[in-house]
Amino acid sequence: MPVSGLPPYDPANIFARILRGEIPAKKVAETEHALAFHDIAPQAPVHVLVVPKRAYVSLADFAATASDAEIAGFWRLVASVAKELTLELSGYRVLTNMGVHGHQEVPHFHVHLFGGRPLGRMVPSGEG
Ligand code: 5GP
Repeated sequence: MPVSGLPPYDPANIFARILRGEIPAKKVAETEHALAFHDIAPQAPVHVLVVPKRAYVSLADFAATASDAEIAGFWRLVASVAKELTLELSGYRVLTNMGVHGHQEVPHFHVHLFGGRPLGRMVPSGEG
């Protein structure tokens, strides 16, 4: 039974295929626990995705079942990528989409790292 309201992990999802090297990605950084690469359809001058290497459907799944070392390693990579891309001074946004209301499209847990311009309000008003 999945932890969240999402189906069980699908190893055919696009990020699993990137992690297996089956399709290319513009890699930014990699550690034992996680991989960072550029989003294929960037929504800001910097739009990087950070994914854990192991199979987690969502944040709920990652938080409930990943080891402490994976969780720490994952978040340290997010922060170090932001630093490497010189976003610390100007600021940046980290976001994860989870499930239906979160509009999660790829069912492998990931965070988006946005930066390089003022990013506006956190959640746009109106329907979506
Ligand atoms: P989600 O809505 O699941 O949080 O976001 C999925 C993200 O994955 C989207 O921003 C989308 O542009 C990105 N994406 C989808 N397919 C690919 C791909 O093949 N390569 C890369 N690098 N990003 C992708």
